Amino acid sequence: MSRREWENCRFAVLYVDLDFFKSVNDLHGHDCGDRVLQQAALSIQRVLRRGDVVARLSGDEFAAIIELQSDDDLARVCQRMTQSFQAPVVVDHREFFISASVGVAVYPEHGKTASSLLQNADRAMYTAKLAGRACYRVYSAVDTEQGRYEQRLSEALIASLKTTPEEFSVVYQPQYRLETGKIAGLEVLIRWNHPEFGAVSPGDFVPIAEQRGHIHELTEHLVRCILADLPEAPGSLPEGLCLAINISARQITDNRLDSLLDPLFDRIRSLGWRSEIEITETHLMNLSTRCLNRLRRLGEKGVIIAIDDFGKGYSSLAYLHTLPVQVLKIDRQFIRRLGGKSPDSRIVSAILGIAEALDLEVVAEGIENSGQYTKLRELKCHRGQGFFLARPRPWLALNGAFIDASQ
Ligand SMILES: [Mg+2]
Repeated sequence: MSRREWENCRFAVLYVDLDFFKSVNDLHGHDCGDRVLQQAALSIQRVLRRGDVVARLSGDEFAAIIELQSDDDLARVCQRMTQSFQAPVVVDHREFFISASVGVAVYPEHGKTASSLLQNADRAMYTAKLAGRACYRVYSAVDTEQGRYEQRLSEALIASLKTTPEEFSVVYQPQYRLETGKIAGLEVLIRWNHPEFGAVSPGDFVPIAEQRGHIHELTEHLVRCILADLPEAPGSLPEGLCLAINISARQITDNRLDSLLDPLFDRIRSLGWRSEIEITETHLMNLSTRCLNRLRRLGEKGVIIAIDDFGKGYSSLAYLHTLPVQVLKIDRQFIRRLGGKSPDSRIVSAILGIAEALDLEVVAEGIENSGQYTKLRELKCHRGQGFFLARPRPWLALNGAFIDASQ
């Protein structure tokens, strides 16, 4: 740094991390992995010019110091760095196709000390991994601001899951049979209210719990809250309602799931209701056979399986047909298009057509106005939920919903 300051030129620190390198070691042994690393090091060296420096930091991580002539120069070097892995690496007459994710921090704007430059290049590398790997990303303070927020949020979440159960609660969103307007079921939604972060959106904290391996604890709180709400005997509750909970696809093969959910299913059955579990479409594709068998076994217990956010992912029809699923929930983005100035009902009609062919029931989520509601009834969609019909509310505030329909 002192030399560059003297000569008044800019330089960049590139953090280079090989993608999926661990699988080379796992599959072909460490001897082979080491030689692949040596070849990778040569590929990196070929990108460098006089005066540049490269080092191996650890494992499959390298860092380079690159002198910059211009901003274009930065893009060129980074592109050459990611492209240097396009040709296969040959070890023992075997071709290995490897790629690298590259993070970049520029001196002085992204750091004025060696450690901050390296740390920010590392952060940028992580962004490149998230962007799909085999690419480069230049450090941005905004990304790390967001990253830091997420980090703080996930630390708080994990602490709350373990120590302060009272921060978690559930609300119930009524679902109606669109033809008759009668209540058809309730979707249970988890809420987290943190003293510092306030009411955190489930869209933010559920993925964190999934990614950090704490989704089981979250579901434990969900089940505990529902069991605390539901009465022991039906009393004046209507019969035959579906109580739907959201389950992550990752949990399906978790051995603890049965013992967690069985008491809930039992209680729901004793009320004369039916249990439904919703699994997000994007996670449903390419399930293992073990996972599918688990779902089938749940089905045999009388649990209804619903695909959540349908239309968002890339379901194959052939695959859908093999899934033990009875319900599709149309993603809210398609419902949004039903009302408004230039209404478009083509996708919803298409989904209803698919559902009919596959003998599935359809739930529309996110119904927010009468235009959407009327259109869905016209299209003969079976069930619906949304703010226009009823907002999610705590158990004790539900009574009205049971008496009858929407408007
Ligand atoms: Mg859902």
